[in-house]
Amino acid sequence: MSRVQLAIVGGGLVGASLALALQAGARARGWRIVLVEPFAPGNAWQPSYDARSSAISYGSRQIFERLGLWSALAERAEAITQIQVSDKGRFGATRLSAVDEGVPALGYVLENAWMGHCLWRALDPAVVEWRCPAEVTRMEPLGDGYRLHLGDDSSLDCDLAVLADGGRSGLREQLGIAVRHTPYEQCALIANVSPADPHGGQAFERFTEQGPLALLPLPDERCALVWTRPPVDAERLQALPDCEFLGELQQAFGYRLGSLRQVGARHVYPLALVEATEQVRPHLVVLGNAAHSLHPVAGQGFNLSLRDALALAESLLQDAAGPGDFAVLQRYLQRQRQDQALTVGFSDGVTRLFGRGESLLVAGRTLGLLGLDLLPPAKRWFARQAMGLGTRSL
Ligand SMILES: Cc1cc2nc3c(=O)[nH]c(=O)nc-3n(C[C@H](O)[C@H](O)[C@H](O)COP(=O)(O)OP(=O)(O)OC[C@H]3O[C@@H](n4cnc5c(N)ncnc54)[C@H](O)[C@@H]3O)c2cc1C
Repeated sequence: MSRVQLAIVGGGLVGASLALALQAGARARGWRIVLVEPFAPGNAWQPSYDARSSAISYGSRQIFERLGLWSALAERAEAITQIQVSDKGRFGATRLSAVDEGVPALGYVLENAWMGHCLWRALDPAVVEWRCPAEVTRMEPLGDGYRLHLGDDSSLDCDLAVLADGGRSGLREQLGIAVRHTPYEQCALIANVSPADPHGGQAFERFTEQGPLALLPLPDERCALVWTRPPVDAERLQALPDCEFLGELQQAFGYRLGSLRQVGARHVYPLALVEATEQVRPHLVVLGNAAHSLHPVAGQGFNLSLRDALALAESLLQDAAGPGDFAVLQRYLQRQRQDQALTVGFSDGVTRLFGRGESLLVAGRTLGLLGLDLLPPAKRWFARQAMGLGTRSL
């Protein structure tokens, strides 16, 4: 059995980002970090037509720049220069543009596998030890930390355990941390598609009676589709032959990018807003999707968790107290509480406002979209929120 200062349970995008944010400070302090993850991202990276992607905000780019990862990520990042938000069958659309906002890009689209690969390569094994493939099966609170029991019957003691094992965290449940679970009764269907026309860096968010549809620009003239539909319909669309699927998508999206020519593997995710009722305990932090899992339509989940990870790393490194100190962890949460509430509220509000067909809401959202074009401060607020630049007021 060994003891380390920090153990991160889950080496997904959030757990690995936290390890990177801590790396330099941990090296200076002589801290040891262990990252436990069942699936190795691997050292080789192959571009794939079917890779899943995330829209990351301009604010997240700034965080990755600080962490020294942006130049590597940028090799395969597609800049979003314009976002077009529209409502199918109704008058009213708004365009957010990087030029108007005075930024090089509103955001970027990155393949998750590429981000994982870049994070994996950036971690220094002398500071961050990967236990991979390995799985934490049980977490036992000690007076001065946690004991992690691993699937191979070994165990590991740590001053601070960070639970970053994703939205379906079984360990969170095992620790008795309750969640607020609000199902949206919708599923997200994800696929990559190739349109006939170049996307020119445009992202599209289109709201339909059945739910919102987002098409994001990817390298190699592909687009990442996130199509929210009622569960039965999402399963039906997933099972359709490619040409029929593309026909239905074309009908919902229109011809803004010409005809849609090719589609890759389709994946369906059930959607819910899941929030842990506790994020910190002495010697424990719940992070990433294990802390809050959002509707993907507003593209905020990873962006928010990256801000959380940076804030947690800074809080731990700024304080002379040890990493598990409860007061330090409470200060971290206090620092992020407003950002979390605003971002969760923004994603949930956008989803509910645009995901329904009731006439009052329909009128309201059309006015809302028009209003965004008519009222520059509202549009600016929306753009800054989407860019993850920590908007506090109009
Ligand atoms: C369809 C869809 C589209 C999205 N699009 C966007 C977007 O455009 N922009 C955005 O910001 N966000 C987006 N998100 C949200 C984003 O994907 C998540 O916020 C992010 O992936 C959360 O990362 P995580 O590391 O917390 O969890 P995960 O990615 O789930 O990683 C958890 C890790 O923990 C590991 N693990 C699990 N159990 C154990 C265990 N017992 N022991 C050790 N390790 C364990 C898993 O193997 C996994 O690697 C989207 C989400 C969905 C579903």
